[in-house]
Amino acid sequence: MKLYNTLSRTKEDFKPLNPPEVKMYTCGPTVYSYITIGNFRAYVTADILRRVLEFNNYKVNYVMNVTDVGHLVSDADTGEDKLEKGARREGKSPLEIAHFYEKDFIQKSQELNFLEPNERPRASEHVGEMIKLIERLERKGYIYITSTGVYFDVSKFVNYEKLARCDLKQQMQAAREDVVADETKKNPCDFRLWQLNQPEHILQWDSPWGRGYPGWHIECSAMSMKYLDEQMDIHTGGEDLIFPHHTNEIAQSEAATGKQYVKYWVHNAFLLVDGGRMGKSLGNAYTIDDIKKRGFEPLALRYFYLTAHYRSPLNFTWEALQSAQNGYRNLRGKLSRLQLGSESGSESESESVHRCGTGSEKDHVDVIAQFSARFQGAINDDLDTPRAMAVLWEMVKAEDLSAVDRLSLAEKWDKVLGLDLLNDELKTQSYELKELPEQVQKLISQREELRENKEFVKADGIRERLQGMGYRLEDTPENTEITAS
Ligand SMILES: [Zn+2]
Repeated sequence: MKLYNTLSRTKEDFKPLNPPEVKMYTCGPTVYSYITIGNFRAYVTADILRRVLEFNNYKVNYVMNVTDVGHLVSDADTGEDKLEKGARREGKSPLEIAHFYEKDFIQKSQELNFLEPNERPRASEHVGEMIKLIERLERKGYIYITSTGVYFDVSKFVNYEKLARCDLKQQMQAAREDVVADETKKNPCDFRLWQLNQPEHILQWDSPWGRGYPGWHIECSAMSMKYLDEQMDIHTGGEDLIFPHHTNEIAQSEAATGKQYVKYWVHNAFLLVDGGRMGKSLGNAYTIDDIKKRGFEPLALRYFYLTAHYRSPLNFTWEALQSAQNGYRNLRGKLSRLQLGSESGSESESESVHRCGTGSEKDHVDVIAQFSARFQGAINDDLDTPRAMAVLWEMVKAEDLSAVDRLSLAEKWDKVLGLDLLNDELKTQSYELKELPEQVQKLISQREELRENKEFVKADGIRERLQGMGYRLEDTPENTEITAS
C-alpha cells in the first residue's frame, strides 16, 4: 500500500519497521469541551488508516492519548490554560471537567463507529514518564532552565525544521513580532518542556526543577515511547499540528534517543464550514450533538467525511450533510432490499449459476475479483476513500452479481469503511423517559394528555416540535418509543 508521508512530501510504499506489526499513534483530544466535527475529521482519518492496515493483514498497535493536563496552547500565549478556563467556567475541578469530556468523546467515537485504540493513556497519569524524558534530555545537554520553565534549545538539534520545512529564520522573526515572547527564552522557537512558577495554576506536580506542570509536546513523546517504544511506524494528526507540535515531538524524541522517532507522518486537511474556517468565536464549531439535533445520523457524517480524500480540504454545509445522509440511506436501503431478496438480480442467482454451468461461473468469479482489486487498489492508494465509495456503489448496482455476492463484498469492504452498511435499522438511540431532558419529558406528557383527550392535531404539533429537537416518537400499541434521530 502507498501512504503520503509529510516528511518526504511524497506518496511512499508503506514498509513497516517490524512487519506484520504496525505501531501507530494519534494525538488525541484536549478534553476541555465537546470535540468539534472539525477535530473528528482527524480521528476518522486515523480510524480509516487503521482499518486499511488491518484489511492488509497488519497487526496494528494503536495508541491515542487524552490531553487532560492543563497546558499552554503555545509558548506564545500568556498562560491561559484551556482546561482551567473550562473548570472556572463550569465550577468544577480540571480533572472532573476532563473526565466528563473524555467520556463524551469516547461515546461519540462509538457513534462514529471508531475501532477502540489498544491504549488510551491520559497525560495526567504519565507525568512521571514526562519528567524522566526531560531528565534524559538534560543529561544530553538539550535543555536550559529559566525563571519561567525548562526549555528545549532548538539550536542544538540539527534539522529541526525537517517536518515543517519552514524557514526557521522566518518563523523566529514571526514569533518575535507577534507574540509577547517569553524574554527568558534563548530563541523564539525554543519550547517549554516544564512550566515553573505559576502558583495560581491548579494542577501541579513536583519535579527536579521545581513544582509545575508539563508542556503539551512532551506528553505525546513520553506516552508514545511508553506504549510503542522509541520508534513507531505511523503518527497521525491534523495538518495544524505539523508545526510546532509534531516538529517539537520529533526534536525532543530524537534528541533523547538518537533514533528516528516516526517513519510515516500522516496529516489530514482541515474541515471548512460554509467555505471558511471553523471557529468557536464564529459560532460554527459544530459538535456531534449539533448534527444529531438537526436529525442527522453520526454515520451519515462519517459517510460525508469519506466522500473527500483526507488530504483535500472538505467543505461542510448542512446541504452537503443532507446529501451525504441521503446517499448513505440509499446505499443502506439498497443493501437491505438485497437482503430481503426484493432487488433485481437477487432472487435468481443461485439458480442462474446452476443453469449456466462452469463457464459463466468463471465470469462471475472474475467480476468479483475485478471489483475486489479495484476496491483494494483505491484504499491502498493513500486511502482514496472517494474512489472506494464509487466502486462500492457500482458493485451494489452490478446486476451480473448475485445478491449474496454483493452482500458479501459489501460486508467485507465495510470493515474498512466502518459504515455499518448491513444494519437496516436506523442508527438511533432509544431512550427511557427518565433519561430525557426535563423540557422534553414535559412535552411528552403534554402530548400524552392531548392524545387521551383525543386532541390529535395538537398532539401531532408537539410530536413535530420534538422532532425538530431531535427526538422521534413512535406510538406502538403498548407505549410510545422515543429515539434520537
Ligand atoms: Zn501529540
